[in-house]
Amino acid sequence: MSRTVLFDLDGTLLNLDIEEFLRHYMRLVGAYFSHVAPPEKFTRAIWASTNAMIANLDPSLTNHEAFAAHFEPLVGRPWEEMWPGFMDFYVKEFPRLRGLSKEDGVAFRVLSQCSRSGWNLILATNPIFPEIAIRERLRWCDAHEIPWKFITHIDNMHFCKPHLQYYEEIVRVCGLDPSRCVMVGNDVQEDMVAKSLGMKTYLVEGLVIDRGGGPEPDLRGPLAQVPEAIEKLLPL
Ligand SMILES: [Mg+2]
Repeated sequence: MSRTVLFDLDGTLLNLDIEEFLRHYMRLVGAYFSHVAPPEKFTRAIWASTNAMIANLDPSLTNHEAFAAHFEPLVGRPWEEMWPGFMDFYVKEFPRLRGLSKEDGVAFRVLSQCSRSGWNLILATNPIFPEIAIRERLRWCDAHEIPWKFITHIDNMHFCKPHLQYYEEIVRVCGLDPSRCVMVGNDVQEDMVAKSLGMKTYLVEGLVIDRGGGPEPDLRGPLAQVPEAIEKLLPL
């Protein structure tokens, strides 16, 4: 019976401080859209709408739709007019953030080894970005050519972390048996919560985010030990 390992991206595969990354991202995006609104107003709207999207639990809205519905009135421009600008931004400006991730080749080695051992791979990154931005970040850790079975992004998901509905949607869409899955991540509340669905959990140490009161991971250790650890957690 097949086994699946789900990987978080930021702070897990990608050696990136998410706070620093978001700060630089907001600076770039604000400057890029300065013809639409003053950068401070524009980035404040992005924060607010991102939080609204994360909080949204209406299953009839994709994350993209939830974001757009909240963002449009804040900025006062039709979303259809702004979206192509975001796509341009991700092609032209977003790759400049690459320098913020300090890569050492471990992610590629770990993913290749899991794949060779027959594990299905799912990228379970918080789906608040469009696919193009996620694929660009995968490139930064040489993980863009890994045979991903599924990648969660803003257009194919209706929920975000830390909500359990996010993991339930992955399970449903991919037809998974949670008891045959391991979730690997660096965030105790956002990633280890998959445990309550019956998945095994592995906390990647190094850039751990823990707001307190989260579930105890089944195992913890460096990213490099994931291939060994998941065999221990879910033996064939
Ligand atoms: Mg993370």
